[in-house]
Amino acid sequence: MNLHEYQSKQLFSEYGIPVPQGHMVQDADSAVAAARDLGGEMWVVKAQAHTGGRGKAGGVTLARSLEEVQSAAQEMLGMRLVTRQTGPAGLPVNRLLVEQGSDIQRELYLGALLDRERSRITFMASAAGGMNIEEVAAQTPEKIITTAIDPAAGLQPWQGRHLGFSLGLTGDQLKAFSRILAALYRLYLEKDVSLIEINPLIVTGEGSLMALDAKINIDDSALYRHPDLQALRDLSQEDEREAAAAEHDLNYISLDGNIGCMVNGAGLAMATMDLVKLEGGEPANFLDVGGGTTAQRVTEAFKLILSDSKVRVVLVNIFGGIVRCDLIAEGIITAARALGMKVPVVVRLQGTNAQLGLAMLEESGLDFITAEDFTEAARQAVTAAAQGGRA
Ligand code: GDP
Ligand code: MG
Repeated sequence: MNLHEYQSKQLFSEYGIPVPQGHMVQDADSAVAAARDLGGEMWVVKAQAHTGGRGKAGGVTLARSLEEVQSAAQEMLGMRLVTRQTGPAGLPVNRLLVEQGSDIQRELYLGALLDRERSRITFMASAAGGMNIEEVAAQTPEKIITTAIDPAAGLQPWQGRHLGFSLGLTGDQLKAFSRILAALYRLYLEKDVSLIEINPLIVTGEGSLMALDAKINIDDSALYRHPDLQALRDLSQEDEREAAAAEHDLNYISLDGNIGCMVNGAGLAMATMDLVKLEGGEPANFLDVGGGTTAQRVTEAFKLILSDSKVRVVLVNIFGGIVRCDLIAEGIITAARALGMKVPVVVRLQGTNAQLGLAMLEESGLDFITAEDFTEAARQAVTAAAQGGRA
């Protein structure tokens, strides 16, 4: 899960990492009020969207008067910000961060992630920070210095000095840098972070270090340990269907094909997609409704699949191990009655009470295509999709 910049900076503050003074606002009048409250003569108005590259896409504006703050806020709020990271649809801007403007002497880069090859949390730093860090990484990777942390020993003082010296920092700046590094490492561990980026980490006009930008990504698998972070989720920044799925504890990933798949268990879901492809079809999604699924969740899963206009056929493939097939059949019938059978629905049930479940589908009076055999079900779905499917 991604955090917004203002949320990440709030965490930085709690860990003692210096950030500019600022306020999150959601309308232009509040932006002006925020600037007035912050004082000074220069402010930065920053679009809060889950993307980098905002500076080059009109999402970061320096303002030298309250009028400029107001017009920048008006321009950004309600826009869809399109950056090189978002794709053409962009992301909606509903929140802004209004900050005191900073005087910049140098722009550095500092990041941390889990290096899977080394199996260690690894810090990366570069003296060539700022808006072109991607080009630096691609063209002159030697300008990015890394240090991996031994999980047993933890971050060592020499690592701070090593990275700091390579950035050309000495004296008090080096000490400040080492403190920031230690705080970032603590934050990384305590909040189950998977990625942190400060780009730019600036040296201000007065020579102090400050995080001017902040990006934090939290490991989804550990989110249950952090209800406070979970509460920071901004669904407007996520794929609509994937967000709806997360809300109902469904594992859903949107794909490009036209056969909507509803399966219980991730392994069976993968096997189903394989078989669909083997028969010459293309799955529209990966969807695992979970082991102990209920009629309610089957309904939600159906809604989700049918909300995708690409879907021409739905293929339900359920193995009743923990769950009983008659309950699944009940869920499918309820969903089909509530949502209407807009496309052919192929159902394969196997396992506990499979016969009962299939009989219920037959007797429902709805036009299901039923199958007991996995391959047969996939073939039926591919054929129906090829014939146009959607009524
Ligand atoms: P990003 O483009 O999404 O990474 O957004 P950033 O927060 O990194 O801002 C982009 C660029 O705007 C920075 O690299 C700075 O050059 C500039 N910028 C941001 N805040 C300030 C500020 O307070 N003062 C000045 N002079 N420039 C700023
Ligand atoms: Mg940045």
